[in-house]
Amino acid sequence: MYACGPTVYNYPHIGNMRKYIADDVLVRVLRQNNFEVQRFVNITDVGHLTQDEFDTGEDKIVAAARREGKSPLAIAEFYSQAFFTDVDQLNVLPPESYIKASDHIPEMQQLTTRLIKKGHAYVSNGRVYFDVCSFEPYGRLSGNTVAQLQERVRAELKKEVFEQKRNPADFALWIKAEANHILQWPSPWGAGYPGWHIECAAMILKHLGDTIDVHTGGEDHIFPHHEDEIAEAQAATGKPLARTWLHVRHLFVEGKKMSKRAGTFIRVEDIKAKGFHPLAFRFLVLGTHYRSHLNFTWRSMRSAQEGWLRYVETIRKLREMQATAQKNDSPPAELLSRLKRIDVDFDKALNDDLATPRALAASSELIGVSNTHLAGHAGLSTINALLERFLHMDELLGLLPHFDEQLSDNEQKNLYDLLAERTRLRAAKEYAKADAVRESLQKMGYELQEHDLHIRWTKIATGQSGTFTP
Ligand SMILES: [Zn+2]
Repeated sequence: MYACGPTVYNYPHIGNMRKYIADDVLVRVLRQNNFEVQRFVNITDVGHLTQDEFDTGEDKIVAAARREGKSPLAIAEFYSQAFFTDVDQLNVLPPESYIKASDHIPEMQQLTTRLIKKGHAYVSNGRVYFDVCSFEPYGRLSGNTVAQLQERVRAELKKEVFEQKRNPADFALWIKAEANHILQWPSPWGAGYPGWHIECAAMILKHLGDTIDVHTGGEDHIFPHHEDEIAEAQAATGKPLARTWLHVRHLFVEGKKMSKRAGTFIRVEDIKAKGFHPLAFRFLVLGTHYRSHLNFTWRSMRSAQEGWLRYVETIRKLREMQATAQKNDSPPAELLSRLKRIDVDFDKALNDDLATPRALAASSELIGVSNTHLAGHAGLSTINALLERFLHMDELLGLLPHFDEQLSDNEQKNLYDLLAERTRLRAAKEYAKADAVRESLQKMGYELQEHDLHIRWTKIATGQSGTFTP
């Protein structure tokens, strides 16, 4: 599975986060159905250019660097961290690998060369363009025809750009850099930088093969980004790029597109600043199917927080009662059959194109049932039966806080010092010493899942977990 990841020249907003939450639910549901999932997410740290930006030659990361007076590398690093923090707060499980566009320039150049050799791309004035008329299925994903696109683009193109292209709708694979452009690499076509779409195509072919099972993105990626990824990859390999595409619809704020100028650009931090828990936002997102537009309002945020609290509090109460329950009991058959039906409804909903609103309705029924029984001094077996259902649900919904903050200060400092030490030793290639640190962490009861840019830890005894980013 490949997911188009963040372009790290700015903070991610809650519309972006909606997409990562949808991806996360998909991964959890696939795993629940015994699929082995290998997910790659890219970090676009170079050259995100839309067609019109390309035609004016403005690279967003370079522009941000100029605006903030930092190096492009520092900009990308800073906003990558902001992204990791946000997805972690929203219980989005880390992918198997984050991959950076800037680490794959040679692969992008190789793919470009391959396309030129096959007659799908051509060099013009230091730029390399993909010839959309050379690829018959072009436009199929987005439902465009080449003729329509040519018409649309023709009206917008500047004369000098128009004259460089064979067809107005051709898009760039490689862009010649001006001498003072900060991010540039040598290439057979002169110093420059890659177009945006070639990044994803080249990284998929390198890490996941010619055809992947699932490719995800936001609805704004359908055209041109995914259309162009398909053209590049399929023209090179002769095979379809992805068997299944998942596109998440837009999130609007108070009925409007998010915009900085209108004050409707909202980050996870803004939600927290108003006293909401990030996971209450996750609850809100799950309340709308990923294929419908979601209209965010502060009022809907408030009711989402109420719903989320009811869910978390019920589980907390059950846990408390589990720890103190005196008597055992045998749960009434009627209760067990009701729990079974709730379970079936829940699983059916998620297996039906990730119908999260229906899954939340099942969880809400379970909350009702639990509260009835909590009031009636339930015995241990009843409590266990209820808790077990909740924990199954939460493996898929991911709404319980991961209790990162509940390690004692000392414990957390100790853990994070050791993780930092291990990261440092590995970077210095002192593998034996690094492994010794890992072993001592295991002896202390921690399980580690290590990824390129972060380590996910779990304290087995308590189930507490968190993400450490060096
Ligand atoms: Zn992409």
